[in-house]
Amino acid sequence: MTQRERAIETVRGPAGGLGAVLMHEHIFGLSPEILWNWPDVPEGWDLERCAADAAAKLDAVRALGIDTVVDLTVIGLGRYVPAVQRVAELTSVNIIVATGLYTYDDLPAYFGNRGPGSLFGGEDRLAEFFIRDITEGVGRTGVKAGMLKCATGKQGITRGVERVIRACAKAHRETGVPITTHSESSVRNGLDQQKLLREEGVDLTRVVIGHAGDSTDLDYLRTLADSGSYLGMDRFGIEFTSFEDRVATVVAMCELGYAERMVLGHDSYCFNDRFEWDVIAERHPNYHLRHISSDVLPELLARGVTQAQIDLMLIDNPRRVLSPVAPY
Ligand SMILES: [Zn+2]
Repeated sequence: MTQRERAIETVRGPAGGLGAVLMHEHIFGLSPEILWNWPDVPEGWDLERCAADAAAKLDAVRALGIDTVVDLTVIGLGRYVPAVQRVAELTSVNIIVATGLYTYDDLPAYFGNRGPGSLFGGEDRLAEFFIRDITEGVGRTGVKAGMLKCATGKQGITRGVERVIRACAKAHRETGVPITTHSESSVRNGLDQQKLLREEGVDLTRVVIGHAGDSTDLDYLRTLADSGSYLGMDRFGIEFTSFEDRVATVVAMCELGYAERMVLGHDSYCFNDRFEWDVIAERHPNYHLRHISSDVLPELLARGVTQAQIDLMLIDNPRRVLSPVAPY
């Protein structure tokens, strides 16, 4: 196989096909230091029970036509791939895991105390860790990461965030695995992410600007997409941007010819020890894996989005962006 034909890696190994893909979800978000010290808090993490529960949630969305979920839980969000591997044994849904680091500001001390400009100096090891996750697998699991992730919050491109984005760019160019981001649409900083990635020589068609769909600013969204990147319309069910606004924005962008540039997701978790689930159920009743299939797609069709455009957003665009390219 040439580099260009390299298969897309899932938790169960290289995938033949992906089918319909939710491009930004999370299986588990864990707080290891809390779990070590207060294992009996009510959130009640239990690997077997939570894996069975997650598999049931995935099976339910499979019955609604979704075949693959991209789990964008990276360092900083409580990634634990052995638990995701257990879920993959229990469900037929493909799961793709990611590597990268989630911070809006400083790096975790493990990385922040190392590297150029740090107190203790030495090599910047971020890219090395990311590349190892992609080429050899995460930890001792043998599961290879299929996507790189970086984040920018309201603080913008801080020194720590800049190191993560540059490391993602380096790992991307060395492996051909695509990049996705967490961006803050209220301050339009997907544009800053694109600028830095472009400066690092990244082909912006290999990038998903995540959480773009939090915005209803069509000029902003068109500018991002005109640079070649995909837009993550990926928080359906999180109510700070309403159902109406999220749907109307996708409809408008489809009318403007951008169905080829959008991907879909909820940014949901099957289990997250940082959430009060009963409060979430009240405030964000549609914040779950089935919302797009059950509510969003029917509404898009009713408003004139075609099935072909939905197939682009759910099937073709994810396949195009997730397929690794040759290093460059
Ligand atoms: Zn997320």
